[in-house]
Amino acid sequence: MVWTAHVLSLFPEMFPGPLGQSLAGKGLQRGDWAMTVTDIRDFATDRHRTVDDSPFGGGAGMVMRPDVVASAIDAARHKADGITKVIYFSPRGRVMDQALVRELAAEPGVILLCGRFEGVDQRVLEAREVEEVSLGDFILSGGEIAALALMDAVVRLLPGVTGNSASLEEESFADGLLEYPHYTRPPVWEGRAVPDVLLSGHHEKIRDWRQRQSEELTKNRRRDLWDRRERKF
Ligand code: SAH
Repeated sequence: MVWTAHVLSLFPEMFPGPLGQSLAGKGLQRGDWAMTVTDIRDFATDRHRTVDDSPFGGGAGMVMRPDVVASAIDAARHKADGITKVIYFSPRGRVMDQALVRELAAEPGVILLCGRFEGVDQRVLEAREVEEVSLGDFILSGGEIAALALMDAVVRLLPGVTGNSASLEEESFADGLLEYPHYTRPPVWEGRAVPDVLLSGHHEKIRDWRQRQSEELTKNRRRDLWDRRERKF
């Protein structure tokens, strides 16, 4: 069985969207990973196929009903034999990072619940032991783009999807550092020359230079990552 994402959304046409292209798209076609998309509205029980209602306690906006969302989750868990982890995208969740992406890539797959309106009724999150994940400290209009971002990040780690696995080992965050800067031809462009060391052919010096660049960038731009790394190593 390949890594499979079961997406629950009110806008199923948004999938696979950008993941139908490029490496992820080819991987999907080849069967290196799989995706199913379910319209949450299919689990509405009334004539009008209602999925949301106004919040108890008052206030703006609508809330997704717990009964409808729970039926969608239960059906996905039933279908996705062995896949139990349910992620709800929410600004209150654990902020997505490469460590989380690696954890999820090691699972057989995930069920991804995309919220709309003001979000889902709190009780369904508790009753179905849903984990909350945030794309960052900003508000999206729905969870779909967060789901696409998560799948993109996971899928490129799967065997077969990214041709060159060495590039995965060297990229940003692999060792808690941001990646060093890249250069390609021409060697001089608009009067700007590529750093000499990269043209030297001296592999050890190149490795040292890149390591120093990574460290400087991380120290200057992402003190939070640098401090965390200092504590770890
Ligand atoms: N009222 C909510 C925001 C609702 S936005 C609040 O203030 O926290 C509507 C939906 O978009 C949410 O249910 C969630 O699924 C998704 N969403 C919004 N921002 C997100 C983020 N930063 N990360 C992941 N999902 C997000």
